[in-house]
Amino acid sequence: MRVCLALFTVFVAAYCQKVFTGDQVLRVNAKSEEQIQLLKVLENREVLQLDFWTHPVSTDLPVDIHVPYASLYPVQKFLQDNEIPFHVMIKDLQELMDKEQEDVQRNAMKVGDAKSFNYATYHQLDTIYSWMDSMVASYPNLISKVQIGRSYENRPMYALKFSTGGSNRPAIWIDAGIHSREWISIGSALWMANKMATDFGVDASVTSLLGKMDVYLMIVTNPDGYVYTHNSDRMWRKTRSVNAGSSCRGVDPNRNWNAGFGGPGASNNPCSDSYHGPSAHSEIEVKNIVNLIKNHGNFKSFISIHAYSQLLMYPYGYTCNDIPNKAELDSVGQRAVQALSSLYGTSYRVGNICKIIYQASGGSIDWSYNNGVKYSFAFELRDTGRYGFLLPANQIIPTATETWLALKYIMEYVRDHPY
Ligand SMILES: [Zn+2]
Repeated sequence: MRVCLALFTVFVAAYCQKVFTGDQVLRVNAKSEEQIQLLKVLENREVLQLDFWTHPVSTDLPVDIHVPYASLYPVQKFLQDNEIPFHVMIKDLQELMDKEQEDVQRNAMKVGDAKSFNYATYHQLDTIYSWMDSMVASYPNLISKVQIGRSYENRPMYALKFSTGGSNRPAIWIDAGIHSREWISIGSALWMANKMATDFGVDASVTSLLGKMDVYLMIVTNPDGYVYTHNSDRMWRKTRSVNAGSSCRGVDPNRNWNAGFGGPGASNNPCSDSYHGPSAHSEIEVKNIVNLIKNHGNFKSFISIHAYSQLLMYPYGYTCNDIPNKAELDSVGQRAVQALSSLYGTSYRVGNICKIIYQASGGSIDWSYNNGVKYSFAFELRDTGRYGFLLPANQIIPTATETWLALKYIMEYVRDHPY
Protein backbone atom coordinates (compact mmCIF):
# COMPACT_ATOMS: atom_id res chain seq x y z
CA MET A 1 0.00 0.00 0.00
CA ARG A 2 1.15 3.54 -0.68
CA VAL A 3 0.06 6.82 0.82
CA CYS A 4 0.66 9.83 -1.38
CA LEU A 5 1.25 13.19 0.12
CA ALA A 6 1.33 16.27 -2.04
CA LEU A 7 3.25 19.20 -0.62
CA PHE A 8 2.13 22.51 -2.09
CA THR A 9 4.93 24.99 -1.80
CA VAL A 10 6.49 27.00 -4.61
CA PHE A 11 6.38 23.81 -6.61
CA VAL A 12 4.53 20.57 -6.04
CA ALA A 13 6.48 17.60 -4.80
CA ALA A 14 4.65 14.35 -4.42
CA TYR A 15 6.00 11.70 -2.12
CA CYS A 16 4.38 8.30 -2.15
CA GLN A 17 5.35 6.60 1.06
CA LYS A 18 5.12 2.86 1.18
CA VAL A 19 3.25 1.95 4.36
CA PHE A 20 3.76 -1.13 6.48
CA THR A 21 0.64 -1.15 8.66
CA GLY A 22 0.17 -4.53 10.32
CA ASP A 23 3.39 -5.92 8.88
CA GLN A 24 5.32 -7.98 11.39
CA VAL A 25 8.85 -9.20 11.87
CA LEU A 26 8.93 -12.84 12.90
CA ARG A 27 11.94 -14.43 14.54
CA VAL A 28 12.29 -18.02 13.43
CA ASN A 29 14.54 -20.53 15.18
CA ALA A 30 15.03 -23.51 12.92
CA LYS A 31 15.78 -26.71 14.80
CA SER A 32 17.24 -28.84 12.01
CA GLU A 33 18.91 -28.67 8.63
CA GLU A 34 15.61 -29.82 7.15
CA GLN A 35 13.86 -26.77 8.60
CA ILE A 36 16.63 -24.53 7.19
CA GLN A 37 15.86 -25.97 3.76
CA LEU A 38 12.13 -25.31 4.27
CA LEU A 39 12.89 -21.68 5.14
CA LYS A 40 14.89 -21.39 1.93
CA VAL A 41 11.84 -22.60 0.04
CA LEU A 42 9.77 -19.96 1.83
CA GLU A 43 12.33 -17.28 0.95
CA ASN A 44 11.95 -18.06 -2.73
CA ARG A 45 8.15 -17.73 -2.80
CA GLU A 46 8.04 -14.34 -4.47
CA VAL A 47 4.27 -14.06 -4.24
CA LEU A 48 4.51 -13.66 -0.45
CA GLN A 49 6.76 -10.57 -0.82
CA LEU A 50 8.84 -11.56 2.20
CA ASP A 51 11.86 -9.53 3.22
CA PHE A 52 14.38 -11.74 5.00
CA TRP A 53 16.30 -9.42 7.33
CA THR A 54 18.59 -12.35 8.13
CA HIS A 55 18.87 -15.46 6.00
CA PRO A 56 18.45 -19.16 6.80
CA VAL A 57 21.98 -20.57 7.01
CA SER A 58 22.38 -22.60 10.17
CA THR A 59 20.42 -23.65 13.23
CA ASP A 60 22.72 -21.43 15.34
CA LEU A 61 21.38 -18.22 13.85
CA PRO A 62 17.82 -16.97 14.12
CA VAL A 63 16.09 -15.91 10.92
CA ASP A 64 14.21 -12.58 11.02
CA ILE A 65 11.50 -12.24 8.40
CA HIS A 66 9.58 -9.07 7.64
CA VAL A 67 6.16 -10.39 6.65
CA PRO A 68 3.63 -8.10 4.93
CA TYR A 69 0.23 -8.07 6.62
CA ALA A 70 -1.36 -9.93 3.69
CA SER A 71 1.13 -12.80 4.00
CA LEU A 72 0.94 -13.23 7.77
CA TYR A 73 -1.60 -16.04 7.72
CA PRO A 74 0.09 -18.25 5.07
CA VAL A 75 3.53 -17.74 6.61
CA GLN A 76 2.42 -18.54 10.14
CA LYS A 77 0.54 -21.56 8.86
CA PHE A 78 3.60 -22.75 6.92
CA LEU A 79 5.76 -22.46 10.04
CA GLN A 80 3.18 -24.17 12.25
CA ASP A 81 2.53 -27.00 9.79
CA ASN A 82 6.25 -27.70 9.64
CA GLU A 83 6.67 -27.27 13.41
CA ILE A 84 9.26 -24.54 12.97
CA PRO A 85 9.42 -22.44 16.17
CA PHE A 86 8.89 -18.68 15.81
CA HIS A 87 7.71 -15.64 17.70
CA VAL A 88 6.72 -12.08 16.86
CA MET A 89 9.67 -9.65 17.22
CA ILE A 90 7.95 -6.54 15.86
CA LYS A 91 4.18 -6.42 16.14
CA ASP A 92 3.53 -3.52 13.78
CA LEU A 93 6.37 -2.20 11.66
CA GLN A 94 4.52 0.99 10.73
CA GLU A 95 4.14 1.99 14.38
CA LEU A 96 7.92 2.01 14.83
CA MET A 97 8.38 3.88 11.57
CA ASP A 98 5.86 6.55 12.55
CA LYS A 99 7.76 7.23 15.77
CA GLU A 100 11.01 7.46 13.86
CA GLN A 101 9.53 9.81 11.24
CA GLU A 102 8.12 12.21 13.86
CA ASP A 103 11.59 12.51 15.30
CA VAL A 104 13.21 13.06 11.89
CA GLN A 105 10.68 15.74 10.90
CA ARG A 106 11.07 17.57 14.20
CA ASN A 107 14.83 17.68 13.82
CA ALA A 108 14.91 18.51 10.12
CA MET A 109 13.77 22.02 11.06
CA LYS A 110 16.81 22.81 13.18
CA VAL A 111 20.09 22.33 11.35
CA GLY A 112 22.44 24.57 13.32
CA ASP A 113 26.22 24.57 13.23
CA ALA A 114 28.58 21.65 13.89
CA LYS A 115 28.48 22.28 17.63
CA SER A 116 24.73 22.41 18.07
CA PHE A 117 23.98 19.54 15.68
CA ASN A 118 21.74 16.87 17.21
CA TYR A 119 23.61 13.56 16.99
CA ALA A 120 20.82 11.76 18.85
CA THR A 121 18.47 11.63 15.89
CA TYR A 122 18.40 10.44 12.28
CA HIS A 123 18.81 13.08 9.60
CA GLN A 124 17.87 13.61 5.99
CA LEU A 125 20.56 13.83 3.31
CA ASP A 126 20.34 17.63 2.89
CA THR A 127 20.84 18.12 6.61
CA ILE A 128 23.85 15.81 6.59
CA TYR A 129 25.36 17.63 3.62
CA SER A 130 24.98 21.03 5.31
CA TRP A 131 26.45 19.57 8.49
CA MET A 132 29.50 18.54 6.42
CA ASP A 133 29.98 22.14 5.34
CA SER A 134 29.79 23.32 8.93
CA MET A 135 32.35 20.68 9.98
CA VAL A 136 34.74 21.88 7.27
CA ALA A 137 34.16 25.48 8.41
CA SER A 138 34.75 24.58 12.07
CA TYR A 139 37.91 22.52 11.46
CA PRO A 140 39.50 24.05 8.34
CA ASN A 141 42.98 22.78 9.20
CA LEU A 142 41.83 19.22 9.67
CA ILE A 143 38.77 18.44 7.57
CA SER A 144 38.08 18.88 3.89
CA LYS A 145 35.23 17.64 1.76
CA VAL A 146 36.24 15.45 -1.17
CA GLN A 147 33.69 14.88 -3.90
CA ILE A 148 34.47 11.43 -5.28
CA GLY A 149 31.85 11.57 -8.02
CA ARG A 150 28.09 11.55 -8.41
CA SER A 151 25.42 8.94 -7.76
CA TYR A 152 23.14 7.36 -10.38
CA GLU A 153 20.55 10.08 -9.71
CA ASN A 154 23.27 12.70 -9.95
CA ARG A 155 23.72 13.51 -6.27
CA PRO A 156 27.24 14.43 -5.22
CA MET A 157 29.08 11.80 -3.18
CA TYR A 158 31.25 13.28 -0.45
CA ALA A 159 33.94 11.86 1.78
CA LEU A 160 35.25 13.87 4.71
CA LYS A 161 39.03 13.82 4.59
CA PHE A 162 40.82 14.18 7.92
CA SER A 163 44.37 15.22 7.22
CA THR A 164 47.09 17.27 8.88
CA GLY A 165 49.13 17.62 5.70
CA GLY A 166 51.74 15.66 3.82
CA SER A 167 51.15 14.24 0.41
CA ASN A 168 49.46 10.95 -0.26
CA ARG A 169 49.98 9.72 3.28
CA PRO A 170 49.00 6.18 4.21
CA ALA A 171 45.24 6.29 4.63
CA ILE A 172 42.24 4.63 6.21
CA TRP A 173 38.93 4.34 4.38
CA ILE A 174 35.66 4.18 6.34
CA ASP A 175 32.23 4.03 4.71
CA ALA A 176 28.72 3.94 6.14
CA GLY A 177 25.26 3.58 4.70
CA ILE A 178 26.11 1.54 1.59
CA HIS A 179 22.86 -0.28 2.43
CA SER A 180 20.48 2.61 2.73
CA ARG A 181 18.05 1.23 5.30
CA GLU A 182 20.85 0.68 7.83
CA TRP A 183 20.38 4.15 9.31
CA ILE A 184 22.33 3.47 12.51
CA SER A 185 25.49 3.13 10.44
CA ILE A 186 25.04 6.71 9.17
CA GLY A 187 23.99 8.04 12.57
CA SER A 188 27.06 6.50 14.19
CA ALA A 189 29.40 7.77 11.48
CA LEU A 190 28.18 11.35 12.03
CA TRP A 191 28.92 11.13 15.74
CA MET A 192 32.31 9.49 15.16
CA ALA A 193 33.35 12.17 12.66
CA ASN A 194 32.63 14.79 15.28
CA LYS A 195 34.45 12.73 17.92
CA MET A 196 37.56 12.45 15.77
CA ALA A 197 37.50 16.20 15.09
CA THR A 198 37.02 17.23 18.72
CA ASP A 199 39.57 14.68 20.01
CA PHE A 200 42.28 15.90 17.64
CA GLY A 201 44.78 17.98 19.63
CA VAL A 202 43.18 16.77 22.88
CA ASP A 203 43.47 12.98 22.81
CA ALA A 204 47.08 11.85 22.31
CA SER A 205 46.15 8.77 20.34
CA VAL A 206 43.91 10.50 17.79
CA THR A 207 46.45 13.31 17.48
CA SER A 208 49.28 10.90 16.73
CA LEU A 209 47.12 8.90 14.31
CA LEU A 210 46.27 11.99 12.29
CA GLY A 211 49.89 13.08 12.48
CA LYS A 212 50.84 10.06 10.42
CA MET A 213 47.79 9.02 8.43
CA ASP A 214 44.78 10.42 6.60
CA VAL A 215 41.27 9.20 7.29
CA TYR A 216 38.57 9.26 4.59
CA LEU A 217 35.07 8.94 6.00
CA MET A 218 32.18 8.49 3.59
CA ILE A 219 29.04 8.87 5.65
CA VAL A 220 26.35 8.36 3.01
CA THR A 221 27.74 5.87 0.51
CA ASN A 222 24.40 5.24 -1.20
CA PRO A 223 22.79 8.71 -1.27
CA ASP A 224 20.01 7.81 -3.75
CA GLY A 225 18.96 4.86 -1.63
CA TYR A 226 19.12 6.94 1.53
CA VAL A 227 16.85 9.66 0.13
CA TYR A 228 14.49 6.92 -1.02
CA THR A 229 14.32 5.46 2.50
CA HIS A 230 13.18 8.88 3.74
CA ASN A 231 10.72 9.71 0.97
CA SER A 232 9.34 6.45 -0.32
CA ASP A 233 10.33 3.16 1.25
CA ARG A 234 12.06 2.98 4.63
CA MET A 235 13.10 -0.61 3.90
CA TRP A 236 15.05 0.15 0.70
CA ARG A 237 18.53 -1.39 0.67
CA LYS A 238 19.88 -1.13 -2.88
CA THR A 239 20.97 1.60 -5.29
CA ARG A 240 18.26 3.20 -7.46
CA SER A 241 19.60 2.35 -10.92
CA VAL A 242 17.21 1.15 -13.61
CA ASN A 243 17.64 -2.52 -14.55
CA ALA A 244 17.36 -3.26 -18.26
CA GLY A 245 14.41 -5.53 -19.02
CA SER A 246 12.98 -5.39 -15.51
CA SER A 247 10.53 -3.16 -13.70
CA CYS A 248 12.48 -3.68 -10.47
CA ARG A 249 15.12 -1.10 -9.70
CA GLY A 250 18.42 -1.17 -7.89
CA VAL A 251 21.47 -3.31 -7.34
CA ASP A 252 22.84 -4.47 -4.00
CA PRO A 253 25.97 -2.30 -3.82
CA ASN A 254 27.63 -4.81 -1.53
CA ARG A 255 27.32 -7.63 -4.08
CA ASN A 256 28.63 -5.51 -6.95
CA TRP A 257 32.40 -5.49 -6.28
CA ASN A 258 34.87 -7.41 -8.37
CA ALA A 259 35.56 -10.13 -5.80
CA GLY A 260 33.96 -13.46 -6.58
CA PHE A 261 31.38 -11.39 -8.49
CA GLY A 262 28.18 -13.27 -9.32
CA GLY A 263 29.02 -16.21 -7.06
CA PRO A 264 27.04 -17.74 -4.18
CA GLY A 265 25.12 -15.43 -1.85
CA ALA A 266 24.24 -12.93 -4.56
CA SER A 267 21.15 -13.03 -6.75
CA ASN A 268 20.85 -12.68 -10.52
CA ASN A 269 17.23 -11.55 -10.11
CA PRO A 270 16.89 -7.74 -10.43
CA CYS A 271 13.91 -7.88 -8.05
CA SER A 272 16.00 -9.44 -5.28
CA ASP A 273 17.45 -7.35 -2.47
CA SER A 274 20.80 -9.01 -3.09
CA TYR A 275 20.88 -8.55 -6.89
CA HIS A 276 24.53 -8.34 -7.93
CA GLY A 277 23.94 -6.17 -11.00
CA PRO A 278 24.79 -6.76 -14.67
CA SER A 279 28.57 -6.60 -14.14
CA ALA A 280 31.15 -5.90 -11.45
CA HIS A 281 31.31 -2.16 -10.63
CA SER A 282 28.21 -1.49 -12.75
CA GLU A 283 27.01 0.79 -9.94
CA ILE A 284 28.51 4.25 -10.19
CA GLU A 285 28.55 4.54 -6.38
CA VAL A 286 30.84 1.48 -6.22
CA LYS A 287 32.89 2.56 -9.22
CA ASN A 288 33.57 5.98 -7.65
CA ILE A 289 35.07 4.36 -4.56
CA VAL A 290 37.07 1.86 -6.61
CA ASN A 291 38.54 4.74 -8.62
CA LEU A 292 39.43 6.74 -5.53
CA ILE A 293 41.12 3.80 -3.77
CA LYS A 294 43.04 2.78 -6.90
CA ASN A 295 44.15 6.29 -7.86
CA HIS A 296 45.24 6.99 -4.30
CA GLY A 297 47.18 3.73 -4.04
CA ASN A 298 48.17 4.08 -0.39
CA PHE A 299 45.16 2.86 1.61
CA LYS A 300 46.19 0.60 4.48
CA SER A 301 42.77 -0.10 5.92
CA PHE A 302 39.23 -0.33 4.54
CA ILE A 303 36.34 -0.43 6.99
CA SER A 304 32.70 -0.70 6.02
CA ILE A 305 29.91 -0.06 8.52
CA HIS A 306 26.61 -1.95 8.30
CA ALA A 307 23.77 -3.03 10.59
CA TYR A 308 22.51 -5.15 12.23
CA SER A 309 23.70 -8.30 14.14
CA GLN A 310 26.66 -7.08 16.26
CA LEU A 311 29.50 -8.59 14.30
CA LEU A 312 33.01 -7.55 13.35
CA MET A 313 34.05 -9.36 10.21
CA TYR A 314 37.05 -9.75 7.96
CA PRO A 315 37.38 -11.37 4.49
CA TYR A 316 36.35 -13.51 2.82
CA GLY A 317 32.66 -13.58 2.07
CA TYR A 318 32.79 -15.12 -1.39
CA THR A 319 34.65 -18.20 -0.20
CA CYS A 320 34.98 -19.94 3.14
CA ASN A 321 38.73 -20.38 2.59
CA ASP A 322 40.87 -18.52 5.11
CA ILE A 323 42.80 -15.45 4.05
CA PRO A 324 46.61 -15.54 4.53
CA ASN A 325 46.35 -12.90 7.30
CA LYS A 326 43.55 -14.61 9.16
CA ALA A 327 45.37 -14.99 12.50
CA GLU A 328 46.37 -11.32 12.60
CA LEU A 329 43.00 -9.92 11.51
CA ASP A 330 41.16 -12.21 13.89
CA SER A 331 43.25 -11.04 16.83
CA VAL A 332 42.83 -7.37 15.86
CA GLY A 333 39.10 -7.99 15.60
CA GLN A 334 38.91 -9.73 18.99
CA ARG A 335 40.72 -6.88 20.72
CA ALA A 336 38.65 -4.25 18.97
CA VAL A 337 35.50 -5.97 20.17
CA GLN A 338 36.88 -6.22 23.72
CA ALA A 339 37.32 -2.46 23.68
CA LEU A 340 33.78 -2.02 22.35
CA SER A 341 32.24 -4.29 24.97
CA SER A 342 34.13 -2.64 27.83
CA LEU A 343 31.72 0.31 27.73
CA TYR A 344 28.21 -1.16 28.02
CA GLY A 345 28.86 -4.90 27.78
CA THR A 346 27.42 -5.13 24.25
CA SER A 347 28.50 -8.49 22.89
CA TYR A 348 29.96 -8.90 19.42
CA ARG A 349 31.16 -11.91 17.50
CA VAL A 350 34.28 -11.86 15.31
CA GLY A 351 35.04 -13.95 12.25
CA ASN A 352 35.21 -14.11 8.50
CA ILE A 353 32.02 -13.22 6.65
CA CYS A 354 31.52 -16.63 5.12
CA LYS A 355 31.67 -18.51 8.40
CA ILE A 356 30.08 -15.96 10.70
CA ILE A 357 27.03 -15.18 8.57
CA TYR A 358 26.94 -16.81 5.16
CA GLN A 359 28.71 -17.00 1.87
CA ALA A 360 28.20 -13.68 0.09
CA SER A 361 30.06 -12.73 -3.06
CA GLY A 362 30.95 -9.33 -4.53
CA GLY A 363 31.45 -7.61 -1.16
CA SER A 364 33.55 -4.47 -0.65
CA ILE A 365 36.03 -5.73 1.93
CA ASP A 366 36.85 -8.82 -0.14
CA TRP A 367 37.67 -6.48 -3.01
CA SER A 368 39.80 -4.15 -0.88
CA TYR A 369 41.68 -7.07 0.66
CA ASN A 370 42.36 -8.61 -2.76
CA ASN A 371 43.60 -5.22 -3.91
CA GLY A 372 46.29 -5.02 -1.27
CA VAL A 373 44.48 -3.36 1.64
CA LYS A 374 45.33 -5.83 4.39
CA TYR A 375 43.32 -4.37 7.25
CA SER A 376 39.86 -4.80 5.75
CA PHE A 377 36.93 -5.09 8.15
CA ALA A 378 33.15 -4.78 8.18
CA PHE A 379 31.00 -3.96 11.18
CA GLU A 380 27.40 -4.99 11.71
CA LEU A 381 26.25 -2.61 14.45
CA ARG A 382 23.40 -2.96 16.97
CA ASP A 383 21.12 -4.62 17.61
CA THR A 384 20.55 -8.38 17.43
CA GLY A 385 17.05 -8.10 16.03
CA ARG A 386 14.78 -6.55 18.64
CA TYR A 387 14.41 -3.50 16.38
CA GLY A 388 16.61 -4.62 13.48
CA PHE A 389 16.90 -1.84 10.91
CA LEU A 390 14.61 0.40 12.98
CA LEU A 391 16.98 0.95 15.88
CA PRO A 392 15.47 3.74 18.02
CA ALA A 393 17.28 7.08 17.84
CA ASN A 394 18.02 7.02 21.57
CA GLN A 395 20.53 4.23 20.82
CA ILE A 396 22.53 6.25 18.26
CA ILE A 397 24.97 7.87 20.69
CA PRO A 398 25.53 4.74 22.83
CA THR A 399 26.09 2.70 19.65
CA ALA A 400 28.47 5.29 18.20
CA THR A 401 30.37 5.68 21.47
CA GLU A 402 31.05 1.97 21.86
CA THR A 403 31.80 1.48 18.15
CA TRP A 404 34.30 4.34 18.27
CA LEU A 405 36.36 2.36 20.81
CA ALA A 406 36.64 -0.57 18.38
CA LEU A 407 37.33 1.67 15.42
CA LYS A 408 39.98 3.57 17.32
CA TYR A 409 41.67 0.32 18.31
CA ILE A 410 41.81 -0.81 14.67
CA MET A 411 43.13 2.56 13.49
CA GLU A 412 45.83 2.61 16.18
CA TYR A 413 46.85 -0.90 15.21
CA VAL A 414 47.09 0.11 11.55
CA ARG A 415 49.16 3.16 12.51
CA ASP A 416 51.56 1.00 14.55
CA HIS A 417 51.90 -1.77 11.96
CA PRO A 418 53.01 -0.15 8.72
CA TYR A 419 53.43 -2.41 5.72
ZN1 LIG B 1 24.49 -3.95 5.12
